[in-house]
Amino acid sequence: MSEQKKAEKIVGVKGMNDILPADAPLWELFENTVHSVLKSYGFQQIRTPIVEPTALFARGLGAVTDIVEKEMYSFTDSMNGDQLTLRPENTAGVVRAALEHNLTYDGPKRLWYVGPMFRHERPQRGRYRQFHQVGAEAVGFTGPDVDAELIMMCQRLWDDLGLSDIRLELNSIGNAEERNKHRVDLIAYFEQHKELLDTDAQRRLHANPLRILDTKNPTMQEMVNAAPKLLDYLGEESRAHFEGVQKILNHNNIPFTINPRLVRGMDYYNRTVFEWVTDQLGSQGTVCGGGRYDPLIEMFGGKPTPACGFAMGVERILELMKASGEQYAPNQCDVYVVHQGEAAQLQSFVLAERLRTAGLDVVLHCASANGGGSFKAQMKRADGSGAAFAVIIGEDEVTANTAVVKHLRAEEGAEQNQVSVEFDAVVDYVVDQIVGHGHDHDHDHDHVHYHP
Ligand code: ATP
Ligand code: MG
Repeated sequence: MSEQKKAEKIVGVKGMNDILPADAPLWELFENTVHSVLKSYGFQQIRTPIVEPTALFARGLGAVTDIVEKEMYSFTDSMNGDQLTLRPENTAGVVRAALEHNLTYDGPKRLWYVGPMFRHERPQRGRYRQFHQVGAEAVGFTGPDVDAELIMMCQRLWDDLGLSDIRLELNSIGNAEERNKHRVDLIAYFEQHKELLDTDAQRRLHANPLRILDTKNPTMQEMVNAAPKLLDYLGEESRAHFEGVQKILNHNNIPFTINPRLVRGMDYYNRTVFEWVTDQLGSQGTVCGGGRYDPLIEMFGGKPTPACGFAMGVERILELMKASGEQYAPNQCDVYVVHQGEAAQLQSFVLAERLRTAGLDVVLHCASANGGGSFKAQMKRADGSGAAFAVIIGEDEVTANTAVVKHLRAEEGAEQNQVSVEFDAVVDYVVDQIVGHGHDHDHDHDHVHYHP
């Protein structure tokens, strides 16, 4: 290589992040908590492909939405000319799969998913080109009970994650007929205030005026606040549904505010819409959005099937978890095995396997590119590993059929910081020490906490 030009480094795609080992415990804590909370409500996981036909999103999300207009990673499959898209969200994919496999043939289904989504946006805090969502879709339920259940499930998740600063905003956007009546008045209102509309709003004025209510443009806020409210156009059934949701939430002491301007980015929503928002994340304050989407399944060619769901932005929630300072178990093991010489290396493999069989997390020293094979260097690695114990096998130990067990976290001056133990008794000894001293030897199952 030395005579050749040094190869240029290839870096990752802008807005698509590596999740490094230091952050992995936080992700695991989040995902494990999600898993157990959703399971406790009877939700079952579904895993759909990251790539779907472009038509799925074009049809499902509506043409005049941020996502379909400008955020999709779409491409032509060079092998067969298929039009494909990296999923920007997963309601469409889950619904497609539910229909394709006739999942609701024997009754409604509670489904959830987690995974990466892709949107070509300007990368900034809380907004990435590859990001992750956890979502739930209750398919085949007429509500309002399931709407309230989905919301309460989110509340429980925030509680279990130790997040207290997320508030619920609720609205109803009625049905298509009610929205059409409102739309006529809304367009007329916006036309009276045309000089205040930005270019986005002007473009949407006739195509999707409801979305103008969602604007983040500060100069439009006052005008938009005074616009005709969809809530005033709801008919009897929509109003009863909305009241039903509120009744259950009130009965269960779930606080919320009604935000008449709340609409969702996707066209397929009707009736209940909600968002969980926080003031801790700057302008990217929405951590979860959801609502009812009764028309979608029929739009996809299925028989009319009501449904309700939500999607939450994992990166935004993790940022809240980091800020909340909750403790978590960092990457660490129970035992680091140090060895010197060929015979000791062979023995150390045997011992490491036995310790793992006993349920411990064990790092066995292996040869590395940056040296560190000396006894001293190995002990330094053992210290850095976070292990409670080092088990040391040198030539003397091989001869004597023993191993040295060293307490790495023993208090200064403690006696018996290091003992020689019969080889066959090492596992029992270490397990005893860990259980006896209340060490957290089972990182996966014990109570785990986050600390940055
Ligand atoms: P926003 O108004 O912030 O653009 P959205 O309406 O596009 O949000 P949804 O499509 O409802 O968002 O997605 C649900 C959640 O996914 C959002 O509330 C947010 O937490 C998260 N999310 C959406 N887009 C991104 C992104 N580009 N990067 C990180 N998280 C995102
Ligand atoms: Mg968006």
